[in-house]
Amino acid sequence: MIESSIIKYRSETVTIDGRWANSVEFNFDKIWKFKDKLKAKGDWNPKVFSYYHVHPEGMLWYSEKDLNCAKGLHIALGACTNFHIVTFDDGDLHAGHYNLKSFFYDPRFPDKLLEYDEIPLDSYSVYILKALSYGYVTL
Ligand SMILES: [Zn+2]
Repeated sequence: MIESSIIKYRSETVTIDGRWANSVEFNFDKIWKFKDKLKAKGDWNPKVFSYYHVHPEGMLWYSEKDLNCAKGLHIALGACTNFHIVTFDDGDLHAGHYNLKSFFYDPRFPDKLLEYDEIPLDSYSVYILKALSYGYVTL
């Protein structure tokens, strides 16, 4: 199982990753450039920056590694960041169903992620995450 991930800024896709099993990864360089480009235009809003990543079936809760990852994103972006965990019930690419939990990191509560209402993912992104996670495609 590959823990693929996708970063969205509103409806725009910033990065897609998914090369290694059991690893939280993202392309910091791409994120950085994307942020700088928007900042230069005066249009940077970290509240609509969302990190989605896939966990193995049934593991719809964050790990210590996830908490550290969310802290890292918070430091890098300088703001609370939306952090989402996605699971699938099977590897059927035609089944669009997915499970989702949404969190964010707030430095006033450094030991946990705060849960809030799910922010749904578009069907294209769901398809990509599933295809990467189950090895139908590789990057
Ligand atoms: Zn995770």
